[in-house]
Amino acid sequence: MKVGVLGAGQLGRMLALAGMPLGHTFSFYDTAESPCTQSLGPTTVGRFDDEKALAAFAATCDVVTYEFENVPCNAAHAINSKLPVYPPPRALEVSQDRVVEKEFLQSLDIPTPNFRAASSEAELLDAVSAVGTPCVVKTRRLGYDGKGQARVASPDDARRAWRELGGVPLIVEAFVPFTRELSVIGVRGQDGKTKTYPLSFNIHRAGILHRSEIPAPGITPELSREAHQIAAKVLNELQYVGVLAIELFEVGGKLLANEMAPRVHNSGHATIDGSVTSQFENHVRAITGMELGSVVSRCPAVMYNTIGTLPDLTRVETLQNAKIHLYGKEPRPGRKLGHITLVSPSPDDDKALESLIRGAA
Ligand code: AMP
Repeated sequence: MKVGVLGAGQLGRMLALAGMPLGHTFSFYDTAESPCTQSLGPTTVGRFDDEKALAAFAATCDVVTYEFENVPCNAAHAINSKLPVYPPPRALEVSQDRVVEKEFLQSLDIPTPNFRAASSEAELLDAVSAVGTPCVVKTRRLGYDGKGQARVASPDDARRAWRELGGVPLIVEAFVPFTRELSVIGVRGQDGKTKTYPLSFNIHRAGILHRSEIPAPGITPELSREAHQIAAKVLNELQYVGVLAIELFEVGGKLLANEMAPRVHNSGHATIDGSVTSQFENHVRAITGMELGSVVSRCPAVMYNTIGTLPDLTRVETLQNAKIHLYGKEPRPGRKLGHITLVSPSPDDDKALESLIRGAA
């Protein structure tokens, strides 16, 4: 099938790399040419509010998907009136606004941190006192990788956060003293079958994912079942098709849902080398109407992001179980340039890779 991808970043690249062996072809739509996808298919350059350009792009595709969740909903709906857009545009509506998202999760009896919405400084002060301190204040829209957030412990902090976050609508969340951060990657096919990968254990640095391990160690069968049920509820409620990620906090042996991403996710990159079917292949299988592949781990896998600068790759190459994935981007501070996955990692190799990655940062 001819798969159109809205967005031409590294996720689009890895979707194409997974989908081409299945016989599919790929094209991309983005606001600029991208080094990530240039060798994998043509890119149409246009604005996401240019309905004519989007319609012309869609006319060349059999199915359209997206690789980032801030695709304007109108754009997704406009294309969906002509051909299938997967995941369904409603998934974008739910995940683009953190308040709508948490209300949606709670409507499915999925526990989340306690929260309040605030649209003015006065409402923010009220919300902070209702939720209690410490709390985390986030912009309702367009936050990512820890951007658009502030920790608040006092009314003065709240006033400062109101100014620094730009006076936009906010969500105030109770600070969760989590044991660790996990995520569940789920996939639903066009026939309604759902599968979830073993949980990922995620470590962030400066708000950006640093390390992700699949399967997360020490997961009880109860926790694994709980995660599967959370993902299945969301996937079924949205009549979802494709891969979805839900970020979770593990606290007191239970799971709280932090946020969801209606797309393939950074915390699932280890599935490329560690799982029978990667998250990228399963997304392509789902949106093209194929059977889903097995989500079983072939071996434990640990992924490190390379951010800003690449580590010394000649030294990484000496680690026999390291798999290097570069996205073709020029180095720039804060930019995700690639990732490296260790399969069946020994503790020594894990330490060695982490120190090479940290040395480059
Ligand atoms: P987010 O953009 O919501 O994924 O938040 C980025 C990171 O901030 C998360 O991965 C957590 O490490 C931290 N964080 C977000 N919300 C909370 C919260 N309510 N309590 C504690 N830490 C949080």
